[in-house]
Amino acid sequence: MVDLLSLVPDPARAALAQWLEARGEPAYRARQILPRLWQRPVGSWDEATELPATLRRALAQTLPLRRLPLSTRQVSRDGTEKYLWDLGDGEAVESVLIPEGKRRTLCISSQVGCALGCVFCATGRMGFRRNLSVAEIVCQVREVMLLDAALKPTNVVFMGMGEPLLNWDAVDGALTILNHAEGLGIGARHVTVSTVGILPNLAKLAQRPEQFRLALSLHAPTSELRHELMPIERKYTLPAVIAALARFRRRVTLEYVLIGGRNDALEQADQLAQLARPLGALVNLLPLHPGGAPDLSPSPRAQMLAFERRLRRQGVEAVLRRSRGLDISAACGQLRVELEARRKVRTEEHARIE
Ligand code: SF4
Repeated sequence: MVDLLSLVPDPARAALAQWLEARGEPAYRARQILPRLWQRPVGSWDEATELPATLRRALAQTLPLRRLPLSTRQVSRDGTEKYLWDLGDGEAVESVLIPEGKRRTLCISSQVGCALGCVFCATGRMGFRRNLSVAEIVCQVREVMLLDAALKPTNVVFMGMGEPLLNWDAVDGALTILNHAEGLGIGARHVTVSTVGILPNLAKLAQRPEQFRLALSLHAPTSELRHELMPIERKYTLPAVIAALARFRRRVTLEYVLIGGRNDALEQADQLAQLARPLGALVNLLPLHPGGAPDLSPSPRAQMLAFERRLRRQGVEAVLRRSRGLDISAACGQLRVELEARRKVRTEEHARIE
């Protein structure tokens, strides 16, 4: 059985044309069916009422539309929405929708869990479970549109669970569907891949002709400190990653989570400025999400502002982001980690009762 949602638009069109021809259906039906995958999605073929009922039934039987059932939806007081999607095999991943003026940014996941174990990250503590498929990645956007077409994201960031460049084949296909005019049609400049710097696949991303944006999770201005916070530093060192960014030919963003007493000193801002300035990089300063890592504390607000000023004084464009969705555990991996904790409590309660 062909899963049209797992195919990028050209092969999807070809597979559909072949299917229509084999059934003796007119070729123009493809132009009615294809927009129902991504542009004007339907939850099931039954809803595509512009098609004859017999055709809808045949589509449902042989080309069913894969769904990601919503298992939890949380809406924060600041408008941030968080979704936990059921993958149907006992696993679940999450996405976070962040509205800001006319912009709606959806933060999507690329893996269940993550092998990289950054100390400030809830997903890292889960460990790695499995990669997501192309359809499981892009259907996070599709499912949000099915909840409410008005929620269609204007921007997509690969900043949810997982390291996207460790699932390159699926992320590569997902980028095509996100951007393609017959896919979701989101401009490449509105799609950001956030990575710790997996160098071989960073080179593959750089080879793509579209202007997808790149964000590097830096979080430390020296190799020594990065080593303590992010074990990947052993494999892809800070100098090697910075050299790769210099070759990237596009403006990059450096992500820097401010952790109280670890990476928020003004001397560290100076070291960060020395890395960011030659790259012409934008620095995104992110408050540590309180639930993301119980053993670390966020940097005090005054220190975060001083850190931001120090960067700016050295000619670095720096933006201190607000922590969003504080009341709904919106840091990556938190909802999933909480769900597991609840499940564990329930299991332990069962065991006691039995
Ligand atoms: S911050 Fe990203 S790369 Fe690091 S453990 Fe979390 S999900 Fe993985």
